[in-house]
Amino acid sequence: MNSGFEYDAVMQRAFQHAKRYLASLDDRPVSTVVTPDQIRSRIKRPLPERGTEATQVIDELVADVADGLVHASGGRFFAWVVGGYVPASLGADWLSSTWDQNGALYALSPAEAVVEETCGEWIKKLLGLPETASFALLTGCQMAHVTCLAAARHAVLERHGWDVEQQGLFGAPRVRFVCGDQVHGSVERALRLLGFGSESIVGLPVDDDGRLRPDALAKALQDEPDAPTIVHLQAGELNTGAFDPFTELVPIAHANNAWVHVDGAFGLWANTSAEYQHLLEGIGTADSWATDGHKWLNVPYDVGYAFVAHPNAHRAAMTHRASYLVFDEQVRDQMDWNPEWSRRARGFATYAAIRELGRTGIAEIIEQTCRHAQQLVMRIGDLSGAEVLWAPQINQGLVRFLDQRPDATDADHDRRTDEVTTAIRETGEAFFYGTTWRGKRCMRVSVSNWRTTEKDIDRTVAAVQGCLGATPAGREVTSMPLDAP
Ligand SMILES: *Cc1c(COP(=O)(O)O)cnc(C)c1O
Repeated sequence: MNSGFEYDAVMQRAFQHAKRYLASLDDRPVSTVVTPDQIRSRIKRPLPERGTEATQVIDELVADVADGLVHASGGRFFAWVVGGYVPASLGADWLSSTWDQNGALYALSPAEAVVEETCGEWIKKLLGLPETASFALLTGCQMAHVTCLAAARHAVLERHGWDVEQQGLFGAPRVRFVCGDQVHGSVERALRLLGFGSESIVGLPVDDDGRLRPDALAKALQDEPDAPTIVHLQAGELNTGAFDPFTELVPIAHANNAWVHVDGAFGLWANTSAEYQHLLEGIGTADSWATDGHKWLNVPYDVGYAFVAHPNAHRAAMTHRASYLVFDEQVRDQMDWNPEWSRRARGFATYAAIRELGRTGIAEIIEQTCRHAQQLVMRIGDLSGAEVLWAPQINQGLVRFLDQRPDATDADHDRRTDEVTTAIRETGEAFFYGTTWRGKRCMRVSVSNWRTTEKDIDRTVAAVQGCLGATPAGREVTSMPLDAP
């Protein structure tokens, strides 16, 4: 039993299932309609008293979960920013499980430590961040925020003579968190986890393009000039993909002793493209940046990246060593930079993706997905009964479906929008979700998968058109004429 061959049968079986899955991705429905009871009835078996043969476990797993999977790794998933995986990253991800390295310490896996070191250096170059910034590979952007903001917490309180790692937050000067009024929920949760609380948030109005206004920021900071402050900027707002004007805002924040943190979960990757780089001008002057690998870089879950311009603050916030100021610079122990102890060696998949694509390949994914988002939004907007609320600046847009009755109210349009969005999803042809933006329900269009093709766009537009015809909102317009796309 110890030859290693006991894995053969199960690995072969898993490989066959995976191959079949990958081959079917382009044609299968993006998801099937399944009720919680249906999916539970298959998966929730009684706790097994005795074991089951490994290949049977795999076969039954594949069968049991089939209708509960959402096939976001295919080309017609446009809800949220999800992305798929490029081939080398999938291969490396499989090997990561096989190698089963513990990514906590250099001593536990010198290869993983150096792979992460390399990923950090490469990504800093790709994203235009300072060469001297420290970094960490995390489960996603959520934990990247926690890591960056823990470093920020250390730094802004240190300036007030407060050692937060030693003294905690009881009795500490209150930290305020200044941001635009549309911030991703993961940022607010990071603030809660770090003990700042949601009430630390000072939300400022944004301009018509969704960008934080320099005058509003300056005024807010001058209102309380001595408070320890973190300013939060966005590279790619979640609904519209808006970018804050970094060249104007960062100097204002720094003149007021604030730390500048950037949420660039997907948007930072636009820096790899000559066409979109201008949106990120001045990005390298911030103090910390959080981004994802499992979104626009198209690496499998889970991986996000934190970068911090002040390595001492980063290390002080994360290290477990009693005296964090004395350390061996020879090798990287990830534990000094990450909030986890034992952890998956998640560097291999990122390393493989960047090698497979190169800088130009990444830029191509960015440009191609932006182009597809443009086409999708404009072509849906051309259908009768639809309108464009936000034409993509990058890969994010918003559309809305209108109730055609002459006396229709905004609430009717909201209802119609949700109805059509659900109907499209239920066709299995494409997957969208709704969002509320500036008080209106809309359908979010997000393209971040390298696999999306022109054919996928055509199929999706046809599906939307079909649903607009098939689910007329009002009795008066039971057969609505449709414009050609
Ligand atoms: C997805 C996203 C996050 C959260 O990232 P996770 O990887 O899901 O933790 C944060 N901010 C923005 C703008 C996002 O799009």
